[in-house]
Amino acid sequence: MNTALRALYLRHNSAGAAAPTPTPVQPITVAVTGANGSIAGYVISLIGSGKMLGEDQPVRLRLLSRDQNKLDGLADEVEDCLYKTVLDTTTHTDPYEAFKDADIVLGIGASPRKKGMGRQQMLASNVHTFIEQGTAFGQVAADGAQFVVVGNPTSGLAHIVSECAKPRMDADNVTAMHLLDQFRAQAAIAKKTGKPAQAVEGVVVFGNHSNTMYPYYGCATIEGQPAPSYLGSLAGNWNQKVFLPTVRTRGTAILEKRGGSSSQSAAQATVQHTRGLLTGNNCETFTMGVRSNGAYGIQEGVWSSFPVKIVGGKIQIIEGHAQDEFSQKMLRETNEDLKAEHAQASQYLRQHRL
Ligand code: NAD
Repeated sequence: MNTALRALYLRHNSAGAAAPTPTPVQPITVAVTGANGSIAGYVISLIGSGKMLGEDQPVRLRLLSRDQNKLDGLADEVEDCLYKTVLDTTTHTDPYEAFKDADIVLGIGASPRKKGMGRQQMLASNVHTFIEQGTAFGQVAADGAQFVVVGNPTSGLAHIVSECAKPRMDADNVTAMHLLDQFRAQAAIAKKTGKPAQAVEGVVVFGNHSNTMYPYYGCATIEGQPAPSYLGSLAGNWNQKVFLPTVRTRGTAILEKRGGSSSQSAAQATVQHTRGLLTGNNCETFTMGVRSNGAYGIQEGVWSSFPVKIVGGKIQIIEGHAQDEFSQKMLRETNEDLKAEHAQASQYLRQHRL
């Protein structure tokens, strides 16, 4: 964390401590890639309204995309929104310019999944963009900056960004946005039980952001009661036949209905992921794609969903979930999927001699 991000974290985590000496709040520079796209449109609006970093946090927006004309129109719109948080907005087609001194890069710009497209094809389409952007991030972003990978396939692309950003950045500077999977799991449980989604707590997701992900409610509660008492055991029918397939294929179902991949929900999850990462999420556990340290038997070095907490500004994988036999089997399956995606990404890196 650099001083601007550290100050943001401390402002959200100083309850009970002696009141800090008031100092002017430093602006935070946020670069948004794929700025002309669907998800980015919602994200920019949420940032402008203070939902990501707070209404008291000034932001400098750096918008990166491919079409300068559209970027100009977008910048005009941002200006007309009169966002109180936005100090200034600049537009770029070159990541080295867009990421210069950025504290946060939201890596959204990527070719979206089309009907029938697999993760291998998505990686092939997006690898060059993320090699260039990872390299730019490592060279020109602010010290201690954060790159949030939203573009798919998130695990493979996070590995690419992290490798390309060395040696200035390390693995903790790169996370993958997998929180949408947790939101989808919470929504499915809320629908099944008729309870509000906010009453469903402690659901987490493991593994790849793909159809092998493992949404897990074994330690969750609904209105304070253990979730399995409402939903049945993890090895039971509802989990295996309804819940897992519904959550795992939610993205595809939305793609088929809308003719385009999730955008509003992906934006909301991107903003909440970044907010949680930088402000500590009130010390609650939530799902984040981070580099595995070998926890839960997930191969060390791959970017995988885990339950995490932000403690003292650092990401901590929370152990102790998913210990039962059924969960262990699910974790082994998603681990194989993650290893395959990681191997393909590593192959691209070797081709680029990285
Ligand atoms: P979009 O098509 O609306 O916008 C994509 C933007 O990126 C456009 O501005 C486009 O010009 C640019 N772009 C396209 N291909 C590119 C490439 N190869 N390199 C650089 N820029 C490129 O798409 P969207 O709906 O905003 O989705 C963006 C990405 O987010 C996609 O990869 C999508 O699969 C992914 N996504 C992730 C999640 C998640 O949970 N992590 C959820 C939904 C979508």
